[in-house]
Amino acid sequence: MTRDNKTVVIIGAGPSGLALAYELIKKKSNYVPIIIEKLDCPGGLSRTVYDGELGVDIGGHRLFTKNQYIQSIWNEFLTVQNAPSIDDIYCERNIKYPILGKDPNKYDDVMLIRKRYSSIIHNNMSFQYPIKLNLDTFSNLGYKTSFLAVLSYVKALFFKRKEKNLEDFMINRFGKVLYDVFFKSYTKKVWGVDASVLSSEWGHQRIRKLSLFKTVINAFLSCFKFLKFQKETSLIDEFYYPKYGCSALWNKMADYIVQNGGQIIYNSEFLEFSHNQNNILSIKYKKSGKTEEIFANYFVSSIPISDLIKGVDAPYDIKQIALTLPYRDYILVSFYTNDFYLKNKTEFKTVNNITPECWIYLQEKDAIASRIQIMNNWSPYLVGDFRKYYLVSLEYFANEHDELWDMSDDKIKKLAANECQKYNLFSPANIIKSSVIREKKAYPSYFGSYFNIKYVFEYLKKYKNLFLIGRNGTHQYNNMDEAMVCGINIAREIMNR
Ligand SMILES: Cc1cc2nc3c(=O)[nH]c(=O)nc-3n(C[C@H](O)[C@H](O)[C@H](O)COP(=O)(O)OP(=O)(O)OC[C@H]3O[C@@H](n4cnc5c(N)ncnc54)[C@H](O)[C@@H]3O)c2cc1C
Repeated sequence: MTRDNKTVVIIGAGPSGLALAYELIKKKSNYVPIIIEKLDCPGGLSRTVYDGELGVDIGGHRLFTKNQYIQSIWNEFLTVQNAPSIDDIYCERNIKYPILGKDPNKYDDVMLIRKRYSSIIHNNMSFQYPIKLNLDTFSNLGYKTSFLAVLSYVKALFFKRKEKNLEDFMINRFGKVLYDVFFKSYTKKVWGVDASVLSSEWGHQRIRKLSLFKTVINAFLSCFKFLKFQKETSLIDEFYYPKYGCSALWNKMADYIVQNGGQIIYNSEFLEFSHNQNNILSIKYKKSGKTEEIFANYFVSSIPISDLIKGVDAPYDIKQIALTLPYRDYILVSFYTNDFYLKNKTEFKTVNNITPECWIYLQEKDAIASRIQIMNNWSPYLVGDFRKYYLVSLEYFANEHDELWDMSDDKIKKLAANECQKYNLFSPANIIKSSVIREKKAYPSYFGSYFNIKYVFEYLKKYKNLFLIGRNGTHQYNNMDEAMVCGINIAREIMNR
């Protein structure tokens, strides 16, 4: 290709890359976005994987944002439901919908409004998540542990630890007893290391304003529903979910980009940049076994920094930091079944009276899976006949090439099926079909060489026309809306230059 002085090359068609391309086009800039994407579809970690009429996200993705601009983009491509969905009708739920919107039974480009139910299974008991200070919690914990939990919480209120790591951060907000019961071993399962090794930055970023105090206040305020309070993201009661999964949104955004002059080159993997002293000149990528090259004005990366650095000329110590950045890899084992045993203990009506949670956190001592995901509660349109069948997944965290990661599909399906039986979700005899998805670098992690990441950023800044965006692009554990904001900000910076 020849040099085009109005081109922005974006590596990665995840939410951040799509949002950047969208913004350049929407604001009628002079820049043509070209996205290089490794996969054959948009959406990145937020994509939906389909198997005929069934669909699962790489871990269910709630659409929730306080950012009006991001909400307006979602609304541009998908319309909020204004009539009951099939499960609402089946259960005769009495729900009020917005006046403006679309009927999900007549249209496909619809965002469903879903109830946010999550819980924790611990010691064979079910706790509401986020943890609530109520009678159920106290009686489940036992009165002695509850008493100690309150004491340790009060202690944490008055004697704050210096927050050197995530463990200090959590104990300061929940007290040592609740930390030991609910967070200590679960954190290790998710991140593969002790909370005392992880930076407290993750806590500040993800649960910065959440504490027991806030959850109590929140429960109190919810008694006064006529007053509108803005809730912490971790405490929301409802969220949006596209009728046909998150990919419905990303496919529409990708169509918009291509129909308006942008390009998305799928099945293409970043190889390297060519550059002079201060600027990137071109990008090389591999497509169908061939190396292709594009020259452009700006280059933006949303791919993991440890992959990007392989294609950048950088000093040895910078490369070492970037190459050893920690990540957590993710495995989703899904089962399509004709029965599901966990029953509903709430007043919210559900199909066949199954439990209403989207996610159940598995905090049993011996459990290897981290979370149970019940797709029927995300969208009844993604599970075939929603009255008869269940699409249930177990989420596992692993490190590339550890025992779990390297397990054959058959073996990990067997392991997951046994866990489903053990925790009384369904019996292996109920399984109609199953699948395994492995996703590398799903969680950017906050320990080890992460503490030196600033040197990598400083070095890469020397390329004046290179930007990093998104979750793995900036090594920040962010949500879809934050990733999109990141892309949009860089689009604006490019347009303003
Ligand atoms: C289990 C799980 C649950 C989550 N739940 C939620 C939720 O409920 N709500 C929410 O808002 N967010 C959630 N998230 C976060 C959400 O997935 C991310 O915030 C979002 O996908 C980040 O978008 P991104 O564009 O920054 O990166 P990504 O989605 O990672 O996109 C990067 C893109 O780059 C491509 N790529 C990678 N390497 C290369 C290469 N070498 N060459 C070319 N292309 C490449 C990838 O294929 C991908 O398409 C969840 C994440 C996980 C893992």
